[in-house]
Amino acid sequence: MFAARAHRRIRYVRRPVSVKHFLLCAIFLSMPVRSAAFPHRAAPAQALAEFGSPRVRSALAWLKEHVAAITETQICLTEIPAPPFHEARRAETVRSLLESAGLAVQIDRTGNVIGTLPGAAPKNGQPDLVMISAHLDTVFPPGTVVKVRREGERLIAPGISDNGAGLSSLVALARAFQAAQLRPHHTILFVADVGEEGEGNLRGMRAVVDDYRERLKAVIVLDGSSTDHVTTRALASRRLEATITGPGGHSWSDFGSPNPINALVRGAVRFINTKVPAAPRTTFNLGQVEGGTSVNSIPYDARLKVDIRSESDDELVRLESAFRECIAAGVRDEMEASRDRSRGKLEFKIDTLGVRPSGELRGDSPLLAAVRAADNFVGNQSRLERSSTDANIPLSVGIDAISIGAGGAGGGAHSLQEWYEPSGREMGLQRALLTLVATSGLSGEKTK
Ligand SMILES: [Zn+2]
Repeated sequence: MFAARAHRRIRYVRRPVSVKHFLLCAIFLSMPVRSAAFPHRAAPAQALAEFGSPRVRSALAWLKEHVAAITETQICLTEIPAPPFHEARRAETVRSLLESAGLAVQIDRTGNVIGTLPGAAPKNGQPDLVMISAHLDTVFPPGTVVKVRREGERLIAPGISDNGAGLSSLVALARAFQAAQLRPHHTILFVADVGEEGEGNLRGMRAVVDDYRERLKAVIVLDGSSTDHVTTRALASRRLEATITGPGGHSWSDFGSPNPINALVRGAVRFINTKVPAAPRTTFNLGQVEGGTSVNSIPYDARLKVDIRSESDDELVRLESAFRECIAAGVRDEMEASRDRSRGKLEFKIDTLGVRPSGELRGDSPLLAAVRAADNFVGNQSRLERSSTDANIPLSVGIDAISIGAGGAGGGAHSLQEWYEPSGREMGLQRALLTLVATSGLSGEKTK
């Protein structure tokens, strides 16, 4: 086991990640940890007051001192491609980084990296785990150039913020706990999960929540950079794919046969004319269209993927049935318009690619109190918002969860021009650490 891991690390050196970044990453990994005797007085109830305690201050100072190294780790992780369903290579690197932060780390059957920092609290059948997570995957397909470009302070690369910022911060928080010898009252799971984006359909978070459901007290999701919000409401969404098939044929000699692309266009035009309310906010996006073989062939098939979202479950259901009806009507219209139905007819189906459930954090949740206390302490202002994130899954089953940005500034998410600027990063890191400390509680901390 150990030999195998050592082997993996050596292979990592040989991978085409630039040598400079590997070395910087390795420097980050090998930074010394101060040691000190460790008292074991449990004082979880005073967690909020513990922000001013020496060990917490030491953890906050560690984050401030290591901002540059954390940014180098972010570059290092961003330059390891992690397309949807291909997160394994990046996962292995995160595993090594979390191990070097002193955690017991495993990769589960879904591909999630799970590092455990044991808490001091005895297991008593109550929820005893706090999870902090960041997703590994990007929206970018294999072959996308993920090399990070620098323009002054600005770092530009697909996935640099979403979720290079979250992942590097996850590792940094584990390192800060280790460096300051912070021992949590409740066990903390540091999780780098797969499948957050698009058709990943939150499968990584679904698996972890499934596995730990009875024991999970709270989930803190690190996603992107911005510290101006706390996502406490899960935006429900559906992703659907319409597929229309037909007999195909020659553009000239078979003209008049039903054409799947024609039918798709007819149905799509009907759908985009569907009225959606501004409140509750309801949206749709035609995101991907495929089909056909050549310009002079009547196609055999046509496919369309749509994403629909709403603050209201009723509106979501209404819009989903509108999509189904519009595609059916498009197929009907095309069949009626075709001159020659003897060669066959059109068939269609609608597949569900993803369903993201809704949910909401209660206003009196201790987790919300924790992030509010952290905001006060670091002087940050944030608003509550609704979004579609990994937090949808725990929220949908009644587990307290929030999603927050990890610090710094970013933009252009899901585009090739995605950027990140580390200025202000330390505040985001400290805010996340304090939220985690207030939620997990600390063991052996004197309060002031
Ligand atoms: Zn993200």
